[in-house]
Amino acid sequence: MAYSIVRGPNNTVWGFWFSFKPEQMHLLAVAVEKDLSAEVQRDIFSNNYRVVPNTSNNQGGFWVMLDSRPAPGETLPKGKDRIYEYWKCPQCGSLLKKGRIDVALAGATFVGTATCGVCGAKFPQSDVYAGKYDVESPGKTDETAKKWWQFWK
Ligand SMILES: [Zn+2]
Repeated sequence: MAYSIVRGPNNTVWGFWFSFKPEQMHLLAVAVEKDLSAEVQRDIFSNNYRVVPNTSNNQGGFWVMLDSRPAPGETLPKGKDRIYEYWKCPQCGSLLKKGRIDVALAGATFVGTATCGVCGAKFPQSDVYAGKYDVESPGKTDETAKKWWQFWK
């Protein structure tokens, strides 16, 4: 199978390119073969990736991008390397999930208001998707804690 690894700054693995539309098992096979990080393997295991047809060059195939990272040709708010899935209501502190990450990655400009489902506070959608209230997803924090505790053995 033909594939390549897509890397971002600091050599971070952002995803892959495949000549065909891959299944999860293909991604896992690559992660194991190339001995990629635990974070990459977890993203694959938990289906935290998007499969995007390649339209940015004439190579064809598909981009597989981990954790809402942009595929080549997609755009992100300035200074961001991904669009975080969660945001925190600045009024009540509730953790809320963004529903339209794919659309945001396609470069859409959001208008209108996002309403906190817990306290009802309203914020501009554009601020939410620009990352003004971003937080790491809860899973990331758990993983970091686990890794940290390993040093106490
Ligand atoms: Zn709220």
